[in-house]
Amino acid sequence: MPGPRSRSYVVELVCSRCGTRYRPEEGPVMCGRMDLGRLDVIYDYDAIREVLSRRVIESRPREMGVWRYHELMPAPMEFASPIREGGTPMLRSSRLNEFLGTEAVYLKDETRNPTGSFKDRAMAVGVAKAAELGKKVAVTASSGNAASSLAAYCASLGISCYAFVPEDVSMGKAAQLVTFGAKLFRVRSVEEGRDPTVDLMVKAVRAFGWYPCPSFGPFNPYQVEGPKTVSYEVLEQLGWESPDAILVPTGSGCFITGIWKGLRDLTELGLLREEDLPMLIPVQPEGNQQLVRAINSGTPFEEIEPERNPRSVASGLLDPFPWDGDAAIEGVKRTGGRGVAVPDEEIMESVRVLASKAGVFAEPSGAVGLAALRRLLDEGFIDRSDRVVVLVTGSGLKEVEKLLGSVGEIPLIKPEVEELKRYLS
Ligand SMILES: *Cc1c(COP(=O)(O)O)cnc(C)c1O
Ligand SMILES: [Zn+2]
Repeated sequence: MPGPRSRSYVVELVCSRCGTRYRPEEGPVMCGRMDLGRLDVIYDYDAIREVLSRRVIESRPREMGVWRYHELMPAPMEFASPIREGGTPMLRSSRLNEFLGTEAVYLKDETRNPTGSFKDRAMAVGVAKAAELGKKVAVTASSGNAASSLAAYCASLGISCYAFVPEDVSMGKAAQLVTFGAKLFRVRSVEEGRDPTVDLMVKAVRAFGWYPCPSFGPFNPYQVEGPKTVSYEVLEQLGWESPDAILVPTGSGCFITGIWKGLRDLTELGLLREEDLPMLIPVQPEGNQQLVRAINSGTPFEEIEPERNPRSVASGLLDPFPWDGDAAIEGVKRTGGRGVAVPDEEIMESVRVLASKAGVFAEPSGAVGLAALRRLLDEGFIDRSDRVVVLVTGSGLKEVEKLLGSVGEIPLIKPEVEELKRYLS
């Protein structure tokens, strides 16, 4: 995006594991101790408070994407891709609220991002950072959405992209990847509880010096910074009044870590009061719920074991290990939230409800928030009058095989009313 060179308000980066501090000029991506800590980006909030107010934010066009908040970004705006993510709508569907018996359930429709998932927010920042650092090749490990998004952003800036995905990657995601020009590899699973795509990515980074850009923090700290803009948008779209709860589809825990970071940015800037923080509710599928289980049982992050056999229709939520679980746990605790795990039948039912009541076409991973909300309403944990934001994270076009697989055969008929009548009766 053209314009004057934006000033950086990043003070330092601090490893979440060992506390080692890095200067932003060093352009760090992983902790030098290789301890799988995430390099948390620390901003000069006092200086940002001087220049960023509600009024300034509201005056900027939505088309700026994550760069609408460039003071809170770790890369200069002039390296940004022109693709333009974010600025997604908050839908208050009366038919959906009627169906749920609720008053103020909002859908934050992240399916409308350029490649069809919220991962575009993360990659907008991760790839701008790669461009700033002069990187020519980026690599990712992903179930598909993060890789598709990385491929698009790399294409737009002329950076080569290597993507390692699971054997059974969905067709929608694979089609995007190859069309954007990524060099795509499906990677065989060899050991239970280990993500083979992450293993290969780490090896390739060591062997070739490529820029690691998967959508989790320990391998790329800038991933948290794009998704945090969802929190800013939600607050503004609700007239700067915090909702009671935000439901977050969760795999690696990077997205909810971003939501939490965004909320803290807002409190630091005086745009949200500590006592108004919304409850953060991570939602995982029953077949891969290590983070939710840890949160609800009080197990510390260090004791979380990877899931040995992750399985669910929600293919975007199958990270065996919650890489950003430390910050996710903190965010849930500090906001009085809890975790929810949902079974596949309820996930598929939620895909249908979102589409048929609200007109929103989500992939299974994108619909788990609604499934969790229905459980929490039944349990009384969330009140039917509460203001609730359900994040719908990915488009149904990503997983057409699964959605068609659940509808049965589609009639094939001659163009004659008589034949149509036979089906209508
Ligand atoms: C990646 C993804 C998630 C989960 O995000 P994490 O950062 O891995 O927790 C949720 N929904 C969709 C559609 C995704 O692609
Ligand atoms: Zn460290």
